[in-house]
Amino acid sequence: MQCEICGREAGMGRQIVLDRSTLVVCDKCVLFGVEKESEKPAERRIPAAPVRTIKPPMFEEKEFDLGLEIVPDFGKQIRRARELKGLTVKELAMKIFEKESLLHRIENQAIKPSDALIEKLGKQLGIQLKKKTL
Ligand SMILES: [Zn+2]
Repeated sequence: MQCEICGREAGMGRQIVLDRSTLVVCDKCVLFGVEKESEKPAERRIPAAPVRTIKPPMFEEKEFDLGLEIVPDFGKQIRRARELKGLTVKELAMKIFEKESLLHRIENQAIKPSDALIEKLGKQLGIQLKKKTL
């Protein structure tokens, strides 16, 4: 039995209704029409997927992120705080296990540090890089 749509070997074939005519098609081409349910030999029932109860994620009570925005001059603040501590970019990078090049880019404000990095830098340098914008 050849599929009447794509011409591939369709085995027993499946009957679909397409534009009011009945076609015998392969498993792939069933999608093109409405399958004649009643004429299917053995009803292949797809068991309903188990209903998964999705728990809402625990609300993270991190005061840190609530309405807080990174300060606009974060690069300057990081550099100043770092220099006050007498650290080179490389030394600071080593202390917080980050790449020196990344810190350079942050100090030049080429990129914004991630929240995790803001936290690390803040702790290491004793500065608050986020402030309320409200
Ligand atoms: Zn086909």
